Amino acid sequence: MDTKAFKRSLHSSDNYHRKGFGHEAEVATQLQSEYQSDLIQEIRANNYRLQRGNVTILLAEAFGFCWGVERAVAMAYETRQHFPTEQIWITNEIIHNPSVNQRLRDMQVGFIEVEKDQKDFSVVASGDVVILPAFGASVQEMQLLNEKNCKIVDTTCPWVSKVWNTVEKHKKRDYTSIIHGKYNHEETIATSSFADKYLVVLNLKQAEYVANYILNGGSREEFLTKFTHAHSAGFDPDKDLEQVGIANQTTMLKSETEQIGKLFERTMMKKYGPGELNNHFQSFNTICDATQERQDAMFGLVEEKLDLMVVIGGFNSSNTTHLQEISVERSIPSYHIDCAERIGPGNQVEHKPLHRELEVKENWLPDGEIVVGVTSGASTPDKVVEDAIERIFELKAAMVVV
Ligand code: SF4
Repeated sequence: MDTKAFKRSLHSSDNYHRKGFGHEAEVATQLQSEYQSDLIQEIRANNYRLQRGNVTILLAEAFGFCWGVERAVAMAYETRQHFPTEQIWITNEIIHNPSVNQRLRDMQVGFIEVEKDQKDFSVVASGDVVILPAFGASVQEMQLLNEKNCKIVDTTCPWVSKVWNTVEKHKKRDYTSIIHGKYNHEETIATSSFADKYLVVLNLKQAEYVANYILNGGSREEFLTKFTHAHSAGFDPDKDLEQVGIANQTTMLKSETEQIGKLFERTMMKKYGPGELNNHFQSFNTICDATQERQDAMFGLVEEKLDLMVVIGGFNSSNTTHLQEISVERSIPSYHIDCAERIGPGNQVEHKPLHRELEVKENWLPDGEIVVGVTSGASTPDKVVEDAIERIFELKAAMVVV
């Protein structure tokens, strides 16, 4: 399929919107009152530090809503204002944050249900308005909505579109796109839908396996089993790894994406020689600034003497999970929560340890003076961070009284 031509024709259609509707000012006030926080402003102004009672909070110097998410949420609010009576749908969570998604439900925005990994678009009627989330939608979904004569409001972050353009460049040269990401993450599903041949690698370990296969060969069956669901239809590791280009899910760990890029560059150089590298390998920098800044800020924060770390963000948010990984690697007790209500009652927290299910931890806040590091993922409003910090203050104050 000529995805480039399809996108070009979609973009010129009257039913397609990707620039908002001119209600920015009203929406900005609304968003400010719903999601901003005076406490967080205060902490920012105070060099990202706040002490109350025996608790010192150290905030990461970059955290929370990135501009791509802010833009997507603002466009969704504008869409409601612009189409006050139309049925509005969204193809997925607008961003990975439960409170923001709930707010949209309250505004009568419907979410497309997923049944057995399949989205049920049968509810969408001709003329309905459909919002595509910040992490985009697959080309097949866009096609279907276009055929249904829907009005499409595309909030896809430009950073994600940049990755799609990279994949188009790979395709033009008949390269296989090696995508560093999670094969079942919405963004990666969308990105791979623009590719002709692709392989999704989750981490450096998987990338090393692929690099070794390129250099030394191996069992084709084992390869295909290992990457079930993570490659394009008809993918043949013996033929389709001769020319590769690197792409990524924008929220992966930046250092790992870079390592994977370098690994394949070295691999192709070794196999084909430095003079032939440009005929076998392509890489463009598509790591999003916001992800990079939040990860860098986290690396700075974990250098401080912290008693524990609280990482706030949706449980299915990839960038939040990566922030959590950074503190876990430093052996700092780290609690990933998605909302303030996970804290309490009493000295307990319901949190999601890395790669495990939710669990309750009792006596999570130590006695006496404590220093708590706090950060949040790119989909988390400041208000949620404020509520979590206030709960920690309340809990510690209550412990002193007892
Ligand atoms: S994390 Fe980056 S790519 Fe994702 S929405 Fe934010 S700015 Fe865009």
